[in-house]
Order: sequence, then structure tokens, then C-alpha cells
Amino acid sequence: MSRFFSDKYSSLDAYVPGEQPRDKKYIKLNTNESPFPPSEETVRAAAREAEELRLYSDPEASLLTAKCAELYGVSRDMVLMTNGSDEILNFAFMAFCDELHPIVFPEITYGFYPVFAELNHIPYEEIPLADDFSVNYLDYVGIGKNIVIANPNAPTGIALPLWQIEEIVKSNPENVVIIDEAYVDFGGESAVCLTELYDNLIVTMTFSKSRSMAGARLGFGIASPELIRDMNTIKYSTNPYNVNRVTAAAGYAALEDNAYYMNNCRIIEENREYTQAQLLKLGFEVLPSKANFLFAKSDEIDGGELYIKLKEAGILVRHFTKEKIKEYNRITIGTRADMETLICAVRRILEEKNR
Ligand SMILES: *Cc1c(COP(=O)(O)O)cnc(C)c1O
Repeated sequence: MSRFFSDKYSSLDAYVPGEQPRDKKYIKLNTNESPFPPSEETVRAAAREAEELRLYSDPEASLLTAKCAELYGVSRDMVLMTNGSDEILNFAFMAFCDELHPIVFPEITYGFYPVFAELNHIPYEEIPLADDFSVNYLDYVGIGKNIVIANPNAPTGIALPLWQIEEIVKSNPENVVIIDEAYVDFGGESAVCLTELYDNLIVTMTFSKSRSMAGARLGFGIASPELIRDMNTIKYSTNPYNVNRVTAAAGYAALEDNAYYMNNCRIIEENREYTQAQLLKLGFEVLPSKANFLFAKSDEIDGGELYIKLKEAGILVRHFTKEKIKEYNRITIGTRADMETLICAVRRILEEKNR
């Protein structure tokens, strides 16, 4: 830290992204990217738009916003496109939370929530999960604080049914409820349909997971026009051109090719069921996932040790050192071939250990 770093950030514990090593070619099952490439038209649209890079992007991302609103069945003034969904999450923390409006979220969830809270000096409370690692919705009903919940949750993969989300939103009418649907396309129930009914609900989504565009940085939020307007005030006070030209064009093409991406999601779901069945056969405990990853542990091998052995075998998974989940690894679902390679490696590692 330099002697110039502001006191207001000096104790900040920054978010640690999953590793992206370049020392050799890994099967990457550690950051929940898609194993499938963007559609051909997505790539062509990006290449065409690159010729216009001399010019600033449209600050309203008008075409993309309209396309997104149409696909999700809401009006345009209910959509805000952002630089990844991390950006809209930060906008929401900045716009609606402060000393007097704290935020609550599950104790085990997306690691960025406490970082956004600390960055913006927002008091926060972490609510423990139930013993089965699910979010107990009753903990949030009528809590009278702002709330952010990833649904499906990460890194557990467990989803709440829509009616429980509605109970949480309905019972906290004076607070903002953010539902982070980064993984909803892999079998969860979206709360977008509730955004017309409740003016305190923000649903966020991303192109990073189900739409093969993690490197393009594109996300969005759907909420009442009033909430969108407030988050736009933050956007125009920080980065009006937050969605660049190439990404906006690629995003538009991706929404036109929605069927391609949703079909990929179905393949991921099949591969997830296959991988879960194989891990169960190998004696693992696997949480019931509606996401593009599995959260699994084995009594025969420590979570950290399995992570290291898999890395030596050229397979990256995500291991967290937090006490309550350190026995587990989060395994992104890749192609069927990726998952067969993973299962073979796990079987060999366990056999060598028992020899
Ligand atoms: C990946 C992820 C995001 C955001 O990713 P972006 O790449 O910034 O869109 C948000 N929430 C959760 C729970 C995630 O796993």
C-alpha cells in the first residue's frame, strides 16, 4: 500500500477472482464459464462492430436494451445494461444502501457481496444457511433490511422456488430486494415476472455463464422504472459508456440467437446430471444443483488436497478456504468429454490414496 492510499479503502479486502493460469492448458472447471463458444453470428457481429471503435458507444445501449426488454417481456425503462452483472450489483449497493439502510445476505454466497458492502461503507449482516446448505427463506421474511440473494445460490447451486422469493419481496415493501440470477438459465425459476408487481425488486442477470460471453463483460438488471432511473443516476455519475460497442453488438446478436444458448444450457444440465451420478458412485456427497456447477465433497479426501491433485492432473476446480465449506470443491460443468476426464482423474486420485 502506498502512503497515498485513502484511509477509506485501506482496510478493504478485495474480491479474489478464480485463477486464470497461463502456465499450461487446463480443463477449466473453476470459474463457471461456458464450455461452448459464442454463436457464429455473435462473433460476426462483434467483428463488424469493431470497425466502428473510433466512436463512443451509445450510452443508452438502446438497441440491446430494447431487444432484452422484448425477450424478457418487460418495458424498456425496466432494463439497465451494465459491464457484467457485477456492475449492476455495485450500482444497486451504491444507490439503495448506506449507514441507515444496511443489507443482509446468506453467510455462504457470492464473495462479491461483502466486498461491495465494505467498498461503499454499508453495514451488512450474514445470515447462516440451514444445515442442508439451503437458504431458509423465513429468515428474510419481514426482516426490514435490504436483501441480496443469489438464486440459484453460489457456490452451493441450490435454488429457492419462486413463491419463496415472492414472500421475501412482498414482506419487505420498504426495502430493496436484489435477486442475483447469474445461474437461472440452468434450471431455476426466474423472478422477472414479479418485477411488474413489486416496485422494490431488482433481478440481475449476466451473459457470462449461460451465454458464453464472460470475456465481453455484459450483464443487466430488470426492475421498476423508478429503481432503474436511480441506478442510471449512479451509472451516469461513474461510467456513461459502461457497455462498449463490440460487447453491445455481440449481446444483441446473442439475444437473437437465444435458442442456441438455451440449447447449450440443456446440454449443461444433462452433463450436470451425468457428473452428479458419477460422483455419487465414487462416494461423494453432492448438493442438489440448479446451476452450471456442482458443489461436492468426499469423506476419503480433503477438499484442498483434491483441488491440488486435480490441478496437477491438468483440471482446475474452485476450492474455498472458508471453514464451513473447506471440505468441498465447486466444479463447473463442461462438455461431456471434460466431465469424463474429470471423473477418471477423481477415480484415479481416490484409488492412489487408498492403495
Ligand atoms: C458470475 C457471477 C456474477 C457476475 O458475473 P459477471 O461476469 O460480472 O456478469 C454475479 N453473481 C454471481 C452469483 C456470479 O456467480
